[in-house]
Amino acid sequence: MKVLVTGASRGIGYCIAESFARRGDEVFATYRTTDTTLPLLRDKLAEDGFALRPVYCDVSNEKSVLALFEEIGDVDILVNNAGIAQFALLSDISGSDWDNMLNTNLKSAFLCSKIFSRGMIRKNFGRIINISSVWGIVGASCETHYSASKAGLCGFTRALAKELGPSGVTVNCIAPGVIETEMNAHLSDEDMAALCDETPLGRIGKPEDVAHAALFFAEADFITGETLSVGGGFGM
Ligand code: NDP
Repeated sequence: MKVLVTGASRGIGYCIAESFARRGDEVFATYRTTDTTLPLLRDKLAEDGFALRPVYCDVSNEKSVLALFEEIGDVDILVNNAGIAQFALLSDISGSDWDNMLNTNLKSAFLCSKIFSRGMIRKNFGRIINISSVWGIVGASCETHYSASKAGLCGFTRALAKELGPSGVTVNCIAPGVIETEMNAHLSDEDMAALCDETPLGRIGKPEDVAHAALFFAEADFITGETLSVGGGFGM
């Protein structure tokens, strides 16, 4: 199948892209600023007989998403993973911080789903997988804009699942807990230990844990509109 993973230059998206490629899919993996990692992954996968193509896209920008579609055409599976985080009190969040957060984390899913669902509807088959966050379900202090964007993704998923279900397209959401990536690199060892203590399964998640759930939704024929927490019980 043809798979598009946004924000695949590192962390969770990188791992999801590699997992689909190793399943035998033709993967298009987007980067925005980090342009060095995906060519290396492409070459490593090619040696093993698998296909991945790095492609540029700023998912918060409509023109860039349209250019991506022009470049790669229809896909069977879309993983809306690209995202940013910011830790700030509500009083310190500017209007442009808010817009940047919502555009990158939520509007991006609207833009990509709108353009790439057309081909899925025509083929009467497709999978859209949105990467939300446990904070989108329970909310996080000092991350109101992040939590709002991620809660929006859960609502978007439920609504779009109803709209696209009759066209054979499933739409599901993954809500990771704390996952070891650069997004959490600013946290101290003490912070990480405290988060680990708050996690019933007693460890920080790995990108592979989220990739596993993405593969599950890609293969599931009769599940749509769901949000699956992948956080070892964190935030329950
Ligand atoms: P990272 O910060 O490690 O990676 C983020 C990725 O998103 C990068 O590939 C980056 O590309 C890309 N990106 C950011 N802004 C844009 C943009 N405007 N257009 C295109 N790509 C963009 O994050 P994670 O891997 O940790 O997170 C991946 C997803 O999982 C995010 O949506 C995040 O909110 C979510 N998540 C993560 C959790 C965690 O604990 N790590 C927990 C819950 C959810 P580049 O570097 O090329 O600019």
